[in-house]
Amino acid sequence: MSENPAATVHLPDDRSKVGSGPFQFRCHQGVSCFTTCCQKLDMYLYPFDIIRLKNALGLHSADFIRRHARIAQGSHPYFPAMMLNMMNDEAAKCPFLCQEGCSVYQDRPSACRTYPLERAVEKSVTHNRLVEHYFMTQHPYCKGHDETNTYTIRQWLRDQGLHDYNLMNDLWAEVEAFFAANPWQGEGKAGPRQQLAFMACYNIDDFRSYTQQHNLLRRFRLDKDRRRRIERDDSELLKFGFDWLQFVLGSRPTLQPR
Ligand code: SF4
Ligand code: SF4
Repeated sequence: MSENPAATVHLPDDRSKVGSGPFQFRCHQGVSCFTTCCQKLDMYLYPFDIIRLKNALGLHSADFIRRHARIAQGSHPYFPAMMLNMMNDEAAKCPFLCQEGCSVYQDRPSACRTYPLERAVEKSVTHNRLVEHYFMTQHPYCKGHDETNTYTIRQWLRDQGLHDYNLMNDLWAEVEAFFAANPWQGEGKAGPRQQLAFMACYNIDDFRSYTQQHNLLRRFRLDKDRRRRIERDDSELLKFGFDWLQFVLGSRPTLQPR
């Protein structure tokens, strides 16, 4: 339940930054605003969000995109972002909202987990690593801020199951930064290279078929364990896809060819 990023390279300037101390918040079924936040959202979906949602719904990733997502302008012009479609009626509710609340709660997107915080990451030039920042959103309709429970950021991340999401979103932020440098070698938008990248990032089931058809895993030195994990697990395949894109498009040493 949020309007925007869980992992970007931009720092929002209209939010109050949250430090290491506790903040006051609790969301539960008893609040008068329950599910008010699950409508009329412009919510970005990151590659790992799509994997979690399409698996929770038992959909092929191409079907999930067709039914639930749309292409949107991202933080730069060189690669599209994806957004979750709301229902096409006046209420414009999230399609996963049901009477009891979120029907995909265990697999809800990063932004819903992070709310009322927003996460931004930036690359520290000094330490050559990503540094995260958290900002507090204060929507007047959200009564969770009036509850007396307190959390530190660390407690909130654990409570909301954000560890895997943030890890995958940080890898995505690196790839996004790579795309922002226009690595399409003159092909322009939606050329064959970008279409391949779109598939690897957002349409993991088609990318799995592509890796099988082209024997992609066999072309690189991958230890047995990693290869098995990639063959079984969509998020491991996504990590491989991120490495592969940076290798083929940017000649980065992210993979070792055989
Ligand atoms: S407390 Fe805030 S996050 Fe929870 S349901 Fe209400 S508006 Fe949504
Ligand atoms: S995915 Fe769940 S938590 Fe997120 S907006 Fe939809 S119903 Fe609300």
